[in-house]
Amino acid sequence: MNHEPVPPPDADARVADLPVLRLKRHEERRVAAGHLWIFSNEVDTTATPLTSFAPGAYAAVRSDRDKFLGYAYVNPHSLIAARIVGRDRGFAPGPSLIVHRLNVALALRERLYTEPYYRLVHGESDALPGLVVDRYGDVLVAQIGTAGMEQQKGAIVAALEKVVKPRVIVFKNDSGARELEQLEKYIEVARGELPESITVREAGLTFSAPLATGQKTGWFYDQAANRRQFLPLMAGAKRVLDVFSYVGGWSVGAARNGAAVTAIDSSAPALEAAARNAAANGVALEAIRDDAFDAMEALHAANEKFDAVIVDPPAFIKRRKDAPKGEAAYKRINQLAMQLLARDGLLVSCSCSYHLAPEQLTDAIQRGGRHLGRFVQILATGSQSPDHPVHPAIPETRYLKAFLCRVTHD
Ligand code: SAH
Repeated sequence: MNHEPVPPPDADARVADLPVLRLKRHEERRVAAGHLWIFSNEVDTTATPLTSFAPGAYAAVRSDRDKFLGYAYVNPHSLIAARIVGRDRGFAPGPSLIVHRLNVALALRERLYTEPYYRLVHGESDALPGLVVDRYGDVLVAQIGTAGMEQQKGAIVAALEKVVKPRVIVFKNDSGARELEQLEKYIEVARGELPESITVREAGLTFSAPLATGQKTGWFYDQAANRRQFLPLMAGAKRVLDVFSYVGGWSVGAARNGAAVTAIDSSAPALEAAARNAAANGVALEAIRDDAFDAMEALHAANEKFDAVIVDPPAFIKRRKDAPKGEAAYKRINQLAMQLLARDGLLVSCSCSYHLAPEQLTDAIQRGGRHLGRFVQILATGSQSPDHPVHPAIPETRYLKAFLCRVTHD
């Protein structure tokens, strides 16, 4: 063993020549513990006024005692005033850091998947805060959620071209989160031509989804692991109801298992795509275009029963203040689902609301079950697919919950 004293790793690496963002006393703790966000009230705005930064500008973040904490981009208009993009003082933020991060992100996905269909970049969890990139073969659909990433759009395109060499790059910058950063919403093609739809392969099946009118980037890769885990356990179900079906990710999988499937969604384009996806995979489904609550009430009134019901709603709780209303909606939708189950049925219940804890969802299921005199058993528990990694210091990155439950009569 060599016991020569070694200098600390980056002792002689110079901090890049960037304006300083100074934190107030004791406010460096969260960032030092690994979190990437700095809230506006944590900034020493007397020493470093936020208004001196243009939206998206890079800064070197320092504690009140001048300790270097990392590089960040700043948005003076956002509650999250800065997000850390790197902690290695020798690696200044900029195009080559983005290339590096993309290479690291791609290496994970190539280890996890044999085909190029996955979320390539999951924001903070891939140390690229504010950036999402979904890969559909040689088509990349990116979503920018922050001014800092918006500033880097050119560098992101160059990095994607270098690392992935795609045929098409689309920015689907239309998420609601952009308002918090005072960003306009738009769709833009950065490379190639705008495809009408994206095509994805999952578990041996092929799906298409319209891009411009579709949800998010077009497909919910976060549910892929849950479909893979739960669908085989539902193989005996003869009648399946897929509520909030979108383009039929769950529906087509269930139909391929031999079930007669009914899909409910309020979106006509989504249901048209679901029907096409069923046909493309050699099956069929029945579609109901309606509000999910109304459609389920109507099915109940008609005394329809299903062997399995899948409930995968959009986030009912987008902001914390929506929690009480949202919790009631989760309880109601799960109760409606259980009402539609045959005597020994299966319920797949999901929530993508970060503000609803897993125990709150199981509680909603349990209460709904008790109200109806049902006995509930949780058979399997799921979360988001591994191409949506969780950042252990950022609870918001763990958002998806899924439970497979057996529901019998008490
Ligand atoms: N289960 C899907 C994803 C669902 S996304 C999958 O795994 O791919 C949510 C879907 O709910 C969208 O397709 C949206 O059109 C639909 N939706 C939103 N509000 C609705 C409502 N009140 N009634 C019915 N569908 C609704």
